[in-house]
Amino acid sequence: MILEELAFVLRAVKYGERDLIVDLFVEGHGKISAIAKSAKTSKKRFPGGLEPFSKMKIKVKIKPNRSLSFLEETDIRNGNVEIRSSFDKITVASYATELVSVFVQPDEPSDEIFSTFDVFLKRVAKSSDAMLPKLLLNFETEVAKCTGFSPSLNACFKCGESVDGFLKYRVSRGGEGLICRDCTEGEHYGIVEKSTMTVFWQLYQDALAEYFHVAQARRIIWASLGPVVDRELKTRAQVEALWV
Ligand SMILES: [Zn+2]
Repeated sequence: MILEELAFVLRAVKYGERDLIVDLFVEGHGKISAIAKSAKTSKKRFPGGLEPFSKMKIKVKIKPNRSLSFLEETDIRNGNVEIRSSFDKITVASYATELVSVFVQPDEPSDEIFSTFDVFLKRVAKSSDAMLPKLLLNFETEVAKCTGFSPSLNACFKCGESVDGFLKYRVSRGGEGLICRDCTEGEHYGIVEKSTMTVFWQLYQDALAEYFHVAQARRIIWASLGPVVDRELKTRAQVEALWV
């Protein structure tokens, strides 16, 4: 069976002198691992190479009962080349790639994550470095939504009381989201500034955020996503080191 779909390269590992084994994030299919024969020499079949962050049309041959497929050709649709001109952009895009690869499985189409990732890379390519923390917060929030691990940020996650009446914002350390004072017994939580939550709710209206707001908000999202990821992402540590 031959598939022709849009895809991103999540990972590429050298195999012998000329070949590469690639993990692909394929629209409509999820993760597909494939061998790209002569990938390091064939400019004709793989024009532009098999770089991460590039959206490409791929032609992949899938053999039944074989775990490895054959990547025959690629055609770059959006190279997002501007990412490669900035160290910060490369760091942030590498982290997004590693995060996405945790959630993408074989034979599990993840098209919501696919389009979130696609939009994110496009924005990273076109924006200034100063916008990266906010783009990243947006991306992590979207990934949390797509994967069903969003924290409750409009109401107490236990009793459902609306946050409108809250004087202080308490966020559970377990990642479930906001918690009201009456429900805190036996719960571990942290206090978040009102201004952080205000910024959080405005994010989708493109409010400009101070970096410390973004950092706090990213920690709230990570409290939910992190336990699911369940392993240390080395690219995440590199991202955190960018903005200290
Ligand atoms: Zn409550």
